[in-house]
Amino acid sequence: MSKPSPSDKAYVPFVSVDNMMKLIHHIGIEEMLVGLATYIEEDFKRWELFDKTPRVASHSEEGVIELMPTSDGEVYGFKYVNGHPSNTKQGLQTVTAFGLLANVDNGYPVLLSEMTILTALRTAATSALVAKYLAPKGADTMAMIGNGAQSEFQSIAMKAIVGIKNVRLYDIDKAATAKAAKNLAGLGLNVVECDSAEASMEGAQIITTCTADKQYATILTDNMVGAGVHINAIGGDCPGKTELAPAILERSDVFVEFPPQTRIEGEIQQMAEDFPVTELWQVMIGTAKGRTSDTQITLFDSVGFATEDFSALRYVRAQIEGTDYHQPLDLLADPDDPRDLFGMVRRAAPS
Ligand code: NAD
Repeated sequence: MSKPSPSDKAYVPFVSVDNMMKLIHHIGIEEMLVGLATYIEEDFKRWELFDKTPRVASHSEEGVIELMPTSDGEVYGFKYVNGHPSNTKQGLQTVTAFGLLANVDNGYPVLLSEMTILTALRTAATSALVAKYLAPKGADTMAMIGNGAQSEFQSIAMKAIVGIKNVRLYDIDKAATAKAAKNLAGLGLNVVECDSAEASMEGAQIITTCTADKQYATILTDNMVGAGVHINAIGGDCPGKTELAPAILERSDVFVEFPPQTRIEGEIQQMAEDFPVTELWQVMIGTAKGRTSDTQITLFDSVGFATEDFSALRYVRAQIEGTDYHQPLDLLADPDDPRDLFGMVRRAAPS
């Protein structure tokens, strides 16, 4: 029997972690980041079509578990994702995820995928896409503060999409910096390991903060940030979890994905409810301004929005068509007579 195609109704294609890694190597990581950024940008540009809601979060002392749903009217998608900063001490990931796409017209799932790796890719692709709009022209150096699971993806995406040449790494844990430097060796970036956040920012036009700590942390203080830089703030993405001193926000033009979610989760949770922000989709369709001067500080207050996961799943669905990088998942009951669900169960009794 030939392998079912992803368009077969009774079978849901499943992309495992193993197949996601194979897909990345098949496409090439930089090409995949560029492809993901293209899909993410396309969906930002049709923003008004989407069902949008802040993600549904279940908080605990240790972390958060979230559901992120959206739909463009034809396809529905959601991601399950957690954030548990102390997980790494037990050898577990801070962030793990999986996601699903379904047909809106009949509600049948059409893709189930691992999204731990895909989230790192989509977050990096989104960061670089936003930096393409907001970073100073000719930016070639990025400070990468927080050298955990996301950091190499962030660095490679900024190379592939923005064209950076130098990445300056810093983490409070030197072992994390050494790991990131080793992983990035030979990938076309000049990598420098730094001893402090200040040192990592020397000569950097882009500053990425990607740390994990469930508190109001101050990774950057006001005096550390000079005029004209672009800040890509990734790690403050949950109530009570931020990375930047409020004074930096006062001096910056802040760009966000979906304001109702970012006001709860982003750096701007520290500011008044009416703190001015610009929506990225409007910059992308040209109805709002991005960078307007060489001295302006632009700040992407990234929290990760459901449409970015939807775009990433849409991209993966297109890429696995005609490949072996998926498995048939027996997820949907498919009785010959749709009303005879019980009969199907009964006939399956062991004889
Ligand atoms: P991780 O736990 O693998 O890495 C975090 C790193 O930050 C660790 O190496 C840790 O030593 C370092 N760190 C902690 N405090 C620091 C400090 N004060 N200065 C320098 N380094 C410090 O986590 P990860 O998977 O890389 O995720 C990083 C953050 O990004 C998390 O907070 C996560 O929730 C967030 N995240 C955001 C998005 C988004 O879309 N915005 C997506 C994914 C993850």
